[in-house]
Amino acid sequence: MLVRNFIFWLSTKKGVTDAIARRGMRYGFARRFIAGETLQEALAASAELGRAGRRVSLNHLGENVRTAGEAERARESYIEMTRQLNAQGLDGNVSIKLTQLGLDLDRDLCQRLTIEIAAAAASLGRTIEMDMEGTAYTDLTLDIFEATRRRFDNVGLAIQAYLYRIEKDIERLAPLAPKLRLVKGAYREPPHLAYQKKSDVDASYRRLLGRLLDGRFFPAIATHDPAMLDHARELLRQRGLAPDRYEFQMIYGVRRDLQQQLREQGHPLRIYVPFGTEWCPYFMRRLAERPANCWFVLRSLAAESLRGRG
Ligand SMILES: Cc1cc2nc3c(=O)[nH]c(=O)nc-3n(C[C@H](O)[C@H](O)[C@H](O)COP(=O)(O)OP(=O)(O)OC[C@H]3O[C@@H](n4cnc5c(N)ncnc54)[C@H](O)[C@@H]3O)c2cc1C
Repeated sequence: MLVRNFIFWLSTKKGVTDAIARRGMRYGFARRFIAGETLQEALAASAELGRAGRRVSLNHLGENVRTAGEAERARESYIEMTRQLNAQGLDGNVSIKLTQLGLDLDRDLCQRLTIEIAAAAASLGRTIEMDMEGTAYTDLTLDIFEATRRRFDNVGLAIQAYLYRIEKDIERLAPLAPKLRLVKGAYREPPHLAYQKKSDVDASYRRLLGRLLDGRFFPAIATHDPAMLDHARELLRQRGLAPDRYEFQMIYGVRRDLQQQLREQGHPLRIYVPFGTEWCPYFMRRLAERPANCWFVLRSLAAESLRGRG
């Protein structure tokens, strides 16, 4: 937990994030988790994943935009991503972040842009998913999700097991029979809002899995935790859910061994594929999840300084 907090703290230091951003793609350590800086690179990665039997969800990295123009450009980018996935016949959708669509600026603008992305995807028979961000945005995200889901049935939402409130939120969403992506939660949240201990988050995740697999939702089981995967497989077996009624989800570059295992066992698997130039905050969250990943970065930076001297 200490290391995790230290990495979160580092991620607020501009000098550190700038240094990582300058070196990350050049020296390759960011490529482990980021499919590239351009849509073409992300599509190439998606095609390769498709050949290995995985679906994808593309995310154009970026959060907390500061102008309406940036939010409009993010909308355009998601629509273009959907068009390209379709044109190239790839099995995939897009994952959007509402702060990238202007949630900090104007709720109505964000709602409109979300509906436009959902409509464009629906016209191509494609789906979209909404990421869940920090607790400052939970209520607004649920409201925008609900309003969008009432008009389009191709929209899913991520929900975070570390939040105490989440069981109530799930009941609120149940009448819409939505696709819900169950994650543990990636942001630093205070103890009065979220479980802090891994064992408590895991217990909540297990409980919620039981709810999500009770037939009222389309569950997306998003975790790399072997214990959660075992629990999910056991529940799926007990309830006899067919592979078209659920999916597993994992993040690009994380636990590729478990990705392979799920596919070999015949489970549907979607890979969350992030790309773009604004990759630093996302990359820091992945380091915070698993501080051992910092060795990649340190090794690359050490190799760089040795090359510099050589
Ligand atoms: C498809 C997908 C979408 C997501 N969307 C959101 C979202 O919208 N909002 C949100 O808050 N969070 C999101 N997350 C992140 C999530 O909340 C967790 O922070 C993240 O998945 C780590 O939790 P875990 O369940 O994988 O396991 P943890 O309990 O963190 O770790 C258990 C084990 O999983 C493996 N592992 C976990 N993370 C890593 C890593 N980075 N590198 C290597 N091994 C690792 C290790 O073996 C580790 O011991 C998403 C995760 C996935 C898979």
